[in-house]
Amino acid sequence: MIDLKKLEVWFVTGSQDLYGKETLEAVAEHSATITAYLDQAPEIPVRVVYKPTVKSADEIFAVMQAANIESNCIGVIAWMHTFSPAKMWIGGLKILKKPLLHFHTQFNRDIPWASMDMDFMNLNQSAHGDREFGFIMSRMRINRKVVVGHWQDHESLNKINGWIRAAAGWNDWQGAKFARFGDNMRNVAVTEGDKVEAEIKFGYSVNTYGVGDLAAVIDAVSESAIDQVIAEYEDSYTLVPALQKGGAQHSSLRDAAKIEIGIQTFLENGNFKGFTTTFEDLHGIVQLPGIAAQRLMAKGYGFAGEGDWKTAALVRAMKVMGSGLKGGNSFMEDYTYHFHPDNRMVLGAHMLEICESIADAKPNCEIHPLGIGGKADPVRLVFNSGPGPALNASIVDMGNRFRLLVNEVMAVTPFNQLPNLPVARVLWKPYPNMHTGCAAWILAGGAHHTCYSQNLSSEHLEDFAEMAGIEYLLIGKETQLYQFKNELRWNEAFYK
Ligand code: MN
Repeated sequence: MIDLKKLEVWFVTGSQDLYGKETLEAVAEHSATITAYLDQAPEIPVRVVYKPTVKSADEIFAVMQAANIESNCIGVIAWMHTFSPAKMWIGGLKILKKPLLHFHTQFNRDIPWASMDMDFMNLNQSAHGDREFGFIMSRMRINRKVVVGHWQDHESLNKINGWIRAAAGWNDWQGAKFARFGDNMRNVAVTEGDKVEAEIKFGYSVNTYGVGDLAAVIDAVSESAIDQVIAEYEDSYTLVPALQKGGAQHSSLRDAAKIEIGIQTFLENGNFKGFTTTFEDLHGIVQLPGIAAQRLMAKGYGFAGEGDWKTAALVRAMKVMGSGLKGGNSFMEDYTYHFHPDNRMVLGAHMLEICESIADAKPNCEIHPLGIGGKADPVRLVFNSGPGPALNASIVDMGNRFRLLVNEVMAVTPFNQLPNLPVARVLWKPYPNMHTGCAAWILAGGAHHTCYSQNLSSEHLEDFAEMAGIEYLLIGKETQLYQFKNELRWNEAFYK
């Protein structure tokens, strides 16, 4: 359900008429060469489309207007090969609604020492042309990404790739719909928030649907559809004997499959990109959706428990951003700590709903009682998640603004078995260390719910926050608590 290849970014080169035919032909040729290079680069997950050089305020306005209208266009890359007087850009930049990347590159990598003359100088002017362009965007307070480097440099391509992935997530949110089955978990604060403001700021809508309406769709699921999903379960997971055909609780597995199909049908019928559930409102549904939520996340839907729509939407955006990359993205909760002085770490899990995209091996499919909610025992996938760099991201509503908080972590292999823990789990060490990482998170008001990512970097999320125009806070290797506390105070003033 996520296909980045149908998306495109536009490569727009600025210049002016002063230069004359010969120079402008060279500009066009060089721009086309760079565009073609980006378009075929394995690092770049979308199409990169060449646009003719813009040389006047009218041409700039027209290309920005067209970018706004083209639904597959998720952003604009701008480059000033020559000098493009930036007052010409005001009108176009004012109306541009798509993310902008300023690629501060130069066609020639090296100075041609022996042959360099004034013709060369007349053509290769991005060192100053891009400064003029940078000024007008700073003057207009426009958020944008600046990537500096030669266009054939792997590092430049990686930066552009990261921005494109953030833009794809941003594009996916525009007009997206998320369904809440039931409301919030009662009395919980951090999962609440201003859904009207979120729609204004983020472009997605969140609406509640009666659990009875979902139960009716689940009830209508056919036996043959359930048979098909049971076959998928048998192929993909190691089923405990009780859940296997002929097992004492096989009927619970069929109930779980029925719930999964019912929710997916509901989401498809309403064109939703994600959903939330809450164990306090399951009227007419026999189990809390466990394996259903896990598998729907793996299919690309956003999800979070207890009515947490902000995290559900974030999980969806991060799945789009990470599409095609090795590793996964999942709803997550900081659950329990290991405070041993030599090996401090966090165990992340949830009651049930961790996405199998982060599993390190074939998951077990198990059934256990759930001591909360008063429903039948729910079926769930149980697995460990592999070691390596990862991060947790959380969006909280601070009342006057949304805050995106990211903590870089290092996931570690569990050094002991957890034979009695009936849920999927991840172990990680927060950066810069357990004490500072957790203290900073708590001081920033970060939620217990997050999206856990194995394949996105904090830079993806920083770019994403810039596109959304929201506050971004990073807890990483360099974080010092006194500086972080000052950052919180300064941001408080900035967003007043
Ligand atoms: Mn929770």
